[in-house]
Amino acid sequence: MLLQKRLKSLLIVLLSLLILNSFTACEKDDDPVEPDKIVTPDKPKEDNTEQSDEDGSITLYSIEGSDIKKLKDYKVSDNLLELQKDTKKHQEIWGLIGQIIPNSYMTFFNEYLVFSGEGNGTAGYVVQTKEDLSKWQVGIAMDFAYDGGFNKDGELSYTIIHEFGHVISLNDTQVDAKKTENDCQSYFPGEGCAKETSYINALYQNHWKDIDDEFQAIGDDESKKEAFYEKYQDRFVTQYASTNPAEDFAEVFTHFVIFDKPTEDSHANKKVQLLYKYPELTDLRNEIRKSLKLDTKSKSARTIKVWKRGSTFGKKGEKR
Ligand SMILES: [Zn+2]
Repeated sequence: MLLQKRLKSLLIVLLSLLILNSFTACEKDDDPVEPDKIVTPDKPKEDNTEQSDEDGSITLYSIEGSDIKKLKDYKVSDNLLELQKDTKKHQEIWGLIGQIIPNSYMTFFNEYLVFSGEGNGTAGYVVQTKEDLSKWQVGIAMDFAYDGGFNKDGELSYTIIHEFGHVISLNDTQVDAKKTENDCQSYFPGEGCAKETSYINALYQNHWKDIDDEFQAIGDDESKKEAFYEKYQDRFVTQYASTNPAEDFAEVFTHFVIFDKPTEDSHANKKVQLLYKYPELTDLRNEIRKSLKLDTKSKSARTIKVWKRGSTFGKKGEKR
C-alpha cells in the first residue's frame, strides 16, 4: 500500500547512498510488511509522484487542531478523479470524524487520508505516523462512506469509532513502542509492549490469555480461523473481533459506545462491561453519544448498525 511504497522509495534512496552490501534489507523489503509495523516518515514528502492506482489513495491532509489542510493529491486514474475533486465530501467525512473524536483525543492524530476502498475492501484504517505511537494517520474509504448515501445506517460512524478504538488502545500512553516482545511481560500487540495497566492488556489477561496458545496455532488458515470463532463465539461481540486482541478491543469499544450497557452476563458482554470500569472511557462514551445524539433512549441500537465487516474476517495485511 501507500505506506509500503513510501518505505520502498526511502529504501531506494538509502541504497543509492550506501555501499551495496545490504541484500538482507532488499529481501526484507520484498516481504509483505506487517501493517502494524509500518511507520510513515514524520513529515510527508513534498514530491507528488506516487501512483495510487493500487492502494486507492486519493488525497492526504494534515490535521491542524480541528481543521484539515491539504498536503497532496495523489495521481489517480480517471474514475477516482471525480472523488478527488469532490473536496466537499472529504470535508463532510472529516466533519463526522471531528464529531466523534473529542479535541482532547484529536491530538493523537496528525494525518487524514481519503482513499478508495474498492480495490482492497477496506473501509478505514489507522496507522502510526510516529514511531513512538504518539501520532496517527486515519484513513477513510470515501466510496464506502457514501455507499447508499452519506453514513447510511451509521456505517461510517461505526468505522470511525472502531478506528478511534485502535488509537485509544495503542497510543503511546498505552503501549511502549521501545520495548521488544522478549522484554514484554504483558500483551504485545505488535506496535510495542502494552503497559501493565493498559486497556488492551486488561482485555488480553482476562479474556484471551487462556486461549492464546490455540489462537497462536491458527496462523493464516482461514478454516481454522472460522473454527476458532465458532468454538469461542460467546466471547466475541462480532466475528471480526476474533481476528486478534487489537481488533477485539476496537469492536468491544464500538459496542460499548453505540449500545446501552449490557445487562446479560455473556462472555462477550463481560468485555464490554470491563470498559465501564474506566471513568475516562465512560466519560468519552458519554461525550461521543451526546455528539452523535445517541443519547435519546431506545434509539441507540437503531441509529448505528453493526457494520457488515463485523461478520467477516479482515484481509491479512490490513492496517489497523
Ligand atoms: Zn480494526
